[in-house]
Amino acid sequence: MAYDNNNVFAKILRGELPCIRLYEDELTLSFMDIMPQSEGHLLVIPKESAETLLDLSEEGAQACIRTTQRMAKAVKAALQPPGIMIAQFNGAAAGQTVPHFHFHVIPRHDGLAMVA
Ligand code: 5GP
Repeated sequence: MAYDNNNVFAKILRGELPCIRLYEDELTLSFMDIMPQSEGHLLVIPKESAETLLDLSEEGAQACIRTTQRMAKAVKAALQPPGIMIAQFNGAAAGQTVPHFHFHVIPRHDGLAMVA
């Protein structure tokens, strides 16, 4: 399926929608999730137009995991959660609601799984 240029993360990347920006480099952007599942829930996205992991370039995938690790370490340092969940969904059938690749970084204080 063709990439939807009007999805909310594409608009955030173009500066057309506001977000709480946490980190940015040449290939990735990280910002707070608008409906956090816990305090500190943030997202990491590639700047390239990729809907799912299957569409993402190898360079984009490497950049996203690097930024995700960096942000998980920052969350650990800032909030000291006992656990941090990294979540990622591919396709609406798998629970993806925004059709631009993203990692969730979610501080966890219990053993419950994420509700997609
Ligand atoms: P998905 O279900 O696709 O894995 O997760 C999409 C995530 O994006 C959700 O956690 C949702 O709260 C978040 N989200 C949706 N729209 C916006 C938005 O406009 N701004 C921000 N910061 N997060 C959003």
